[in-house]
Amino acid sequence: MSVEGKVAVVTGSNSGIGLGIARELARRGAHVAINSFTDNPEDHELAAGIAEDHGTNVVYIQADMSQGEAARTLVTRAAEVLGSVDILVNNAGIQHVAKIDEFPAGKWDAILAINLSSAFHTTAAALPLMRHKGWGRVVNIASAHGLTASPFKSAYVAAKHGIVGMTKVVALETAEEDITANAICPGYVLTPLVEAQIPDTMKEYGMDRETVIRDVLLQRQPSKEFATVQQMGGTVAFLCSDDAAQITGTTISVDGGWTAL
Ligand code: NAD
Repeated sequence: MSVEGKVAVVTGSNSGIGLGIARELARRGAHVAINSFTDNPEDHELAAGIAEDHGTNVVYIQADMSQGEAARTLVTRAAEVLGSVDILVNNAGIQHVAKIDEFPAGKWDAILAINLSSAFHTTAAALPLMRHKGWGRVVNIASAHGLTASPFKSAYVAAKHGIVGMTKVVALETAEEDITANAICPGYVLTPLVEAQIPDTMKEYGMDRETVIRDVLLQRQPSKEFATVQQMGGTVAFLCSDDAAQITGTTISVDGGWTAL
């Protein structure tokens, strides 16, 4: 079994890791629903471009992952347009960096909603469709911060630990079916989300950009290299393969050795 002919929904996928995963799944023959909260012509052009590159059905579906009902509607809409939902990749995520006593409550709520609660809603909507087909794969994009912590990232670390826990529950509830649930824990991948952290971190530590990259961002990544979005897509594809059929309820770190430290 490969992803060929399967239908995948990737939340938060008009940029960064989600876009890399969407491209990689389409390259391997999957039909893909790309998502973000915007509804710009470029979003639809992006989907059309991937469809043209790989000859599969790729559509853009606007849905704000901070809203539970919208997250559920993304799944049902994708099933209407593409025929089913076989693979659900919960990837949408935002970040905010501040000391916990200065952390804006609104940012806390938004991070928990987008990085954690959206996956609850999409999974709840997708599992009945997967059960109907007798096959499904849930892949949650957690983080090394789902397994370890860093200062100034209370909401993000809480949400990512939360999604690792929820992954285990989904795996147990589907254990006797041909459905698996796993979390990928990337280390640093140079995407717009990471790029946006650099100015704050430069200010926080009083460092220049290169020093922030080497000594702060990649300080805990022994390989001293960013992971790539293609590697994330390849890991998702592996988790959808027959070789991974007995891998469920666990995490796969793609972090250059970070969590080995
Ligand atoms: P990114 O900012 O490039 O992409 C985030 C995506 O989520 C974008 O497509 C954005 O439009 C979408 N998004 C944001 N808010 C949304 C909302 N309310 N509704 C729908 N979509 C929304 O970031 P990225 O680095 O590609 O991060 C993707 C995921 O990978 C996140 O969950 C992040 O926590 C995780 N991650 C990233 C890294 C890294 O180093 N980049 C490391 C570990 C984990």
